[in-house]
Amino acid sequence: MMSNQKRIISIDNSSSKLESFGELQQTRVIALFSLVGMSITFAMALFAINDNNFILFLALGLSSVIYAAAYYLVKQKKHVKLSSYIVIYSLYVLMFYLVYSGGVALTGPLWIFIVPPVSLYIHGFKRGLINIFIFIVISCLIMFWPQNIYTHAVYPTEFKLRLLYSFLTISFLSVLYEFSRNELYNNALVLNAKLHHLAHFDELTGLHNRRNAQGILNQYISAADVSAPFSVLLCDIDYFKQVNDKYGHNAGDKLLVDIGKVFNNNLRDFDYVARWGGEEFLFILTDTDKIKAFDVAERVRCAVSQHLFSLDEEDISVTISIGIEEYHSQLTIDQLINYADKHLYEAKRLGRNRSIPVPKY
Ligand code: GH3
Ligand code: MG
Ligand code: MG
Repeated sequence: MMSNQKRIISIDNSSSKLESFGELQQTRVIALFSLVGMSITFAMALFAINDNNFILFLALGLSSVIYAAAYYLVKQKKHVKLSSYIVIYSLYVLMFYLVYSGGVALTGPLWIFIVPPVSLYIHGFKRGLINIFIFIVISCLIMFWPQNIYTHAVYPTEFKLRLLYSFLTISFLSVLYEFSRNELYNNALVLNAKLHHLAHFDELTGLHNRRNAQGILNQYISAADVSAPFSVLLCDIDYFKQVNDKYGHNAGDKLLVDIGKVFNNNLRDFDYVARWGGEEFLFILTDTDKIKAFDVAERVRCAVSQHLFSLDEEDISVTISIGIEEYHSQLTIDQLINYADKHLYEAKRLGRNRSIPVPKY
């Protein structure tokens, strides 16, 4: 049998909302990176052609087209990963070219400071760091390589060293920032999952709580296919007060937890059980009319009555009484529960340890 927790029905889905918010945020940032990249490289390409620097114009123009493609991919096709790879690797290639050629008046390398924050954002902490390292090694090779092996822009040594130091400083600060951003985001995810669990599940038994059960019932009665029957069982432990009085409140709590496990073990995969109140439980039985519901109720009732519940000092057996009601379209949730409650009261009145109504075959 599937455990109750596994069958979490999404009433407000708040934990997955935060994750999808993160994904949406990433989509937006990648789209923004591509848009900004496209605009800047386009503007710089115009300056390059104005300066008659045709090769630089080609490099920047090509980059602008690549960023436009990345923007199209993320916006229209929702290819976030592919688009982010295009953005980052084309950025690296453009930066290598600027370092190699010097750009306009040897100012090209100044753009490499974009690399650390963008790499960390796109690749995350670990891979981002490796990529930044590889990037700076290649950039240094380009800048420091002897001119007699191949020709590249010549920078003063002081400039190259200052560029390297400041790049490393920016990388370090970006890593710190990314690290704390990541921590905060992960903490928010964990906290959100906890809140989600608290909002939907009973703290003591781990069963669905009353609020969640009401949400499930609401979904059922507002579902398009109301032709499929469903039933509820309202179930109350017999003489539970005596357990508390005789063995103490903690023993009573333990019994509630154990009885929740018995319920879960006797539940079909598509049913729900919730702690409705103190020692009252509500079963929601999918695709089940009142005749089938009676069979389920009796199976659960027998399972409980045959189970030995071990408390601190001794093993005891308890019984439960069950009121059954089948939903029909004229009923509100309150009326449905009230009818089940009336049947439960009847089961108590008739001597307990029974399910009511007994179907007339
Ligand atoms: P009946 O067969 O008529 O249902 O008898 P009962 O003793 O079970 O019924 P009653 O409603 O008089 O008592 C229910 C008791 O359940 C009273 C309350 O102290 C106890 N109870 C409610 N919630 C909890 C809980 O969370 N833990 C414990 N240990 N006891 C609880
Ligand atoms: Mg009660
Ligand atoms: Mg009771």
